[in-house]
Amino acid sequence: MPFPDLSIPSDGQRIGLVDGTRIVPDRPFIPYILGDGIGTDVTPAMRTMVDAAVTKAYDGSRSIAWVEVFAGERAMDKRGEWLPAETLEAFTYYRVGIKGPLTTPVGGGIRSLNVAIRQRLDLYTNVRPVYWISGLPSPVRHPEHMDIVLFREATEDVYAGIEWQAGSQDAEKVLRFLRDEMGVDTLDVSGTGVGIKPISEMKTKRLMRSAIEYAQARGRKSVTLVHKGNIMKYTEGAFRDWGYELARDEFADTTVSEEALWKDHGGVAPNDAIVIKDRIADNMLQQLLTRTADYDVLALPNLNGDYLSDAAAAQVGGLGVAHGANIGDEVAVFEAVHGTAPKYAGQDKVNPMALTLSGVMMLEYLGWDDAATLVRNGIEAAVADGVVTYDLARQMDNATEVSCSGFAQAVVDRM
Ligand code: NAP
Repeated sequence: MPFPDLSIPSDGQRIGLVDGTRIVPDRPFIPYILGDGIGTDVTPAMRTMVDAAVTKAYDGSRSIAWVEVFAGERAMDKRGEWLPAETLEAFTYYRVGIKGPLTTPVGGGIRSLNVAIRQRLDLYTNVRPVYWISGLPSPVRHPEHMDIVLFREATEDVYAGIEWQAGSQDAEKVLRFLRDEMGVDTLDVSGTGVGIKPISEMKTKRLMRSAIEYAQARGRKSVTLVHKGNIMKYTEGAFRDWGYELARDEFADTTVSEEALWKDHGGVAPNDAIVIKDRIADNMLQQLLTRTADYDVLALPNLNGDYLSDAAAAQVGGLGVAHGANIGDEVAVFEAVHGTAPKYAGQDKVNPMALTLSGVMMLEYLGWDDAATLVRNGIEAAVADGVVTYDLARQMDNATEVSCSGFAQAVVDRM
């Protein structure tokens, strides 16, 4: 066994990879991070629902060999560090995993464990589907119009962590370079913090490729590049230009730009081609509210993706249901969008739906669609019956409020 310090079920099998295709055995090892704070509540609830669905969908012939790996406070307790190499190696070796939320350590050289996991495993696409489950409370009149999938670049942009504090020697060195070598004469060298916003052609294009491939595989109608290219021309503007270029160069037969759609095709996509369009990020925030149904797959740089995905989630039930995945070429790690909500930790109170819907994405990624459908249907049925956790119950009439584990049981009962 490659990980002597982890507790690994003896009868599991490793997911294979042959010529880029995943080979999923009947009992794959799936490493998971329990998570800090409410991770100890939502992760076991997620496992209960996912395991029940897998057992039921395949009459017991398939199952998951869960392997706990450590990060965050639990890793500090057990291994004396926030993010042990063993954890990253296990995700890489076993190829598919899932994680609960993690506290961002104060000090210690790591800005965010989540960002570190994405960057070190090169999980460059953060995928966040946002759709409405009938019955969920919503602040808008037509939450059913929302059915989008965000592809957020996850390794560069201002999240790359290249920044210097105002007044530090390094900040002043960079500022002096900008002033003396680059002719930038509008900076206050002594009192300015500096961050770098790298956006590269290679990383933009691989993100856009994933977004278009996803749109093709799922019969989606459009991919929208969301950027602030009107202001940040060589980063966000380049993101837009490289996105269009990739579509033209690699998907000429199956995509059409919005401009060509109207100029050459009277507004009707030829041969069901995927329409490639772009929107400026501030406009996009309003379009999500006012023209929700016009949008389908979105491709975004890191920061825009962060803002937009939470704004979109708010329209269909909020953080308690927002789910996602971090996907690279060979490794995928699924996670909820929410954090550790420390004030609710260990109370068996919060909503496990977000992490469980991430589990649904994981099952689909494994090709176990029947199990994924069972979990999703179970959740929909529980919500339709008004059986929900506190966060949703407080916004619904006549709801039956249940605990975190109570919700998991309600879903299993309805599968
Ligand atoms: P948060 O943990 O997401 O919680 C904010 C609020 O959202 C909660 O107080 C609660 O609202 C609601 N909420 C979150 N998860 C919920 C759930 N499962 N069910 C129901 N309601 C839920 O955000 P935060 O307080 O800003 O961050 C706390 C810590 O988490 C920080 O250390 C942060 O760095 C970290 N974080 C981690 C991740 C991650 O691991 N992926 C993501 C974000 C933040 P009410 O109080 O209104 O009920």
